[in-house]
Amino acid sequence: MDTRQQDSLRELFLGTAAFYERFGYVPQLADSVSNFREETRELIEAAETGSDVAHIAEEAADVFVTAIGVCMSSGVDIDLLIDQVYAVIHKNNAKTHATHIYTDGKIRRRSSLK
Ligand SMILES: [Mg+2]
Repeated sequence: MDTRQQDSLRELFLGTAAFYERFGYVPQLADSVSNFREETRELIEAAETGSDVAHIAEEAADVFVTAIGVCMSSGVDIDLLIDQVYAVIHKNNAKTHATHIYTDGKIRRRSSLK
């Protein structure tokens, strides 16, 4: 079985597409970016003000939905998005202390450090 069929990201993408279609909305880049910025600001605000974790998770889900809107308005389809998610997972899994180091609030490639 294709594991992509069980992917919550796929369900969110398809659910968002159905939601937009129900309202006759075709995602436009400017609107999508504006919505994404608004939801990102809300997530950051929730986290920085110490909101309860349920509220932070709710805002994070809003960020995911609006990121999908940015993808849709830019022509990114669900398979490409899922492939890129797994590419990031595999890339991060391959990073070790030999290749990367945590410094200045970020995990960085050792070779990028001066
Ligand atoms: Mg929100």
